Amino acid sequence: MKVMKFGGTSVGKPERMHHIAGLVIKENEPVIVVLSALSGTTNALVEIGNSIARGDRSAAKAGIDKLETHYLQFVSELVKSPAAVEKARSIIAEHFEFLTIILKISFSEALSKDILAQGELLSTKLFCCYLEEKGIEHQLLPALEFMSIDSYDEPQIGSIKIKLSQLLKQHAGKKLFVTQGYICRNSKGEVDNLKRGGSDYSASLIAAAINASVCEIWTDIDGMHNNDPRIVKRTLPIEQMSFDEAAELAYFGAKILHPASIWPAQQYNIPVKLLNTMQPEAKGTTITENAGSVGVKAVAAKDNIIAIRIKSSRMLLAYGFLRKIFEVFEKYRTPIDMITTSEVAVSITIDNDVHLQDILKELEPFGSVELDKAQSIISVVGNQIAQTEDMIRKLFESINNVPVRMVSYGGSPHNISLLVPAIYKEQLLKQLNKGMFGLD
Ligand code: ADP
Ligand code: ASP
Ligand code: MG
Repeated sequence: MKVMKFGGTSVGKPERMHHIAGLVIKENEPVIVVLSALSGTTNALVEIGNSIARGDRSAAKAGIDKLETHYLQFVSELVKSPAAVEKARSIIAEHFEFLTIILKISFSEALSKDILAQGELLSTKLFCCYLEEKGIEHQLLPALEFMSIDSYDEPQIGSIKIKLSQLLKQHAGKKLFVTQGYICRNSKGEVDNLKRGGSDYSASLIAAAINASVCEIWTDIDGMHNNDPRIVKRTLPIEQMSFDEAAELAYFGAKILHPASIWPAQQYNIPVKLLNTMQPEAKGTTITENAGSVGVKAVAAKDNIIAIRIKSSRMLLAYGFLRKIFEVFEKYRTPIDMITTSEVAVSITIDNDVHLQDILKELEPFGSVELDKAQSIISVVGNQIAQTEDMIRKLFESINNVPVRMVSYGGSPHNISLLVPAIYKEQLLKQLNKGMFGLD
């Protein structure tokens, strides 16, 4: 059995949905299709939630009406037969009635998650409607019946495995399953999600849970590129990379993959393929244990980074100092991305500022604390990059004219990270494209 995940742009137009139906029915083995919401929908739902949170119900209502019009237009081109049109319209009516009712309820965090879930619920149901019209046998598997996270927002892979296999057993013999990416239930049983871009994570968790032959992530580009194509003009796809390399790139900002989406596949040794829906014959990127080649593969950037420097003469020759500092971050469940040390100071970066004030307060007794906001981490990722000839020279030459705040090298054989003020991100990505890859 394999997993095929299609992102927002892959389902964002009626003809794209027709096209992916053509792709999934070509398969010889059973498939679980994981769908995102139609492109733009989750952003629109976020806005609707924000309007309700602000108490601006008329803005929320306007957002809901605009989205409903979009969906009505979408289904008018998705399905043709009167029965299918009626069914699709009743699906839309059901979900938009729900959104309209929500307008009357007082706002809560749980309610905002319910709003966000509507996108994936709609896309999967409408896709099934189209499959039904075409007489393609399939089964919708509601993600809310098997996908779950614990009280620390970590997926419960054991429970996902059991529940999903029970569901599949109920429909033994079927070849095509459809489910929602992104959405799940939390430890309180409420509707929740795996954070923005989370459908990739859903796909990898499902692939791990069913021990899939492959986890295919179908998107709008032909695989992982060597640099961010939204910023740099000339980028090239990478044919093969290791789980470790892909995990570093995803974590350090390559938007094509959700930051946590690699570990489930890696843990169960399931190959991940990144493929282009609009160009299915392109090779894309294959991610396995095998890196394929040695050397630098790609650079990526992660934004909204905060650097904290703790300076203390008491650190001199002191043991246990770093533990005490790390305990503060642990206490506030705030992951540290980068760390560099000198004899009298330590610099740390975080991207989650929810508990920043508490953290700063607790760090104060250790020495002077300085803060730099609006930083970006630029990561250079590859296989055994430290051993790559000329790599360091090329890297440092490419940094020319960019004020680097931190450098992290040697933590893993796959990554060198630089911290720079966010305003230098574009410039540095472009300079690295030229200096490291010879691309303009
Ligand atoms: P989907 O909706 O299919 O999940 P995303 O927009 O989340 O698609 O991810 C695909 C996008 O990721 C691409 O269109 C591209 O602009 C962006 N991207 C950023 N960095 C990279 C990279 N290194 N390689 C490929 N795509 C990247
Ligand atoms: N629809 C969700 C989002 O836009 C999840 C996803 O597309 O992966 O973030
Ligand atoms: Mg995505």
